Amino acid sequence: MENIIRIAVQKSGRLSEDSLSLIKECGIKFYNGTGKLKSTSTNFPIEFLFLRDDDIPGYVADGVADLGIVGENELVEKNKEVLVLKKLGFSKCRLSLAIPKGEEYPGLEYFEGKNIATSYPKILGDYLKANKIQAEIHEISGSVEIAPSIGLAEGICDIVSSGSTLMMNGLKEVEEIFRSEAALISHPNMSVAKKAIVDKLLFRMNAVQKGKSSKYVLLNAPNDSLEKIVSLIPGMRSPTILPLAQNGWSSVHSVLSEDQFWENIEELRAAGAEGILVVPIEKMIL
Ligand code: ATP
Ligand code: MG
Repeated sequence: MENIIRIAVQKSGRLSEDSLSLIKECGIKFYNGTGKLKSTSTNFPIEFLFLRDDDIPGYVADGVADLGIVGENELVEKNKEVLVLKKLGFSKCRLSLAIPKGEEYPGLEYFEGKNIATSYPKILGDYLKANKIQAEIHEISGSVEIAPSIGLAEGICDIVSSGSTLMMNGLKEVEEIFRSEAALISHPNMSVAKKAIVDKLLFRMNAVQKGKSSKYVLLNAPNDSLEKIVSLIPGMRSPTILPLAQNGWSSVHSVLSEDQFWENIEELRAAGAEGILVVPIEKMIL
């Protein structure tokens, strides 16, 4: 079908919730009851396939899905021919090498001639090759952290977030080899009609992302410090200044990044700003 696009998202797991909320924040409505494998939006030409994340790069490369949302770790590991349209900023994690806690770690040469268990043989293999380390890679699909304690391997390479799983299994992280976040990927060759729909979706995603990183700030300021305050919160074009009912005071409205807000808060207060409100922005189009 040419007038509808298909997106593959994780059915359930660490990617699914954020993937689906991003799509909902784009104003796209759909129903995803438990156990559903397919769904169609009621107000945007898009169809959803709910899959295991391992299968997403392959489905997109084959053209079964036009788009997919998947972690860069799976994407690089699967090594399929797809395009990365956009990094999405969620499901951030790292792939690391870990060894038993009691072992001394002299550096990467530790792994020379050793056995490493992982679910990421390609990423690990490329990393070892680039660092000229000869090691045996033992591919297993889950519970990688127990491999050393059961004598299956001397080290592991796995996803780490807080490190508590490693600790529970008597391991310590020694090298970070890859950083990952969720990405929007697409089939490399799409028809013009499909591309036009993808562009609409990207436009909405960008508006949502920009909105998330910005805040709408309102504050009251004495008129004689307006110049200083406007310089601290310059906004998109320039701030809005409205007179308060009380003489000599104004209300200043502006848009700025949250980081920028925190950086300038002391100076704003020192300049006389008070009654400061910071409000979330749902969407932002520049
Ligand atoms: P599936 O059943 O779909 O194959 P899975 O068990 O392989 O799921 P999840 O644990 O749901 O995968 O993780 C999905 C993706 O989320 C990972 O490939 C990675 O990109 C990212 N991820 C993994 N662990 C974390 C974490 N602790 N914090 C944030 N993101 C993570
Ligand atoms: Mg998986």
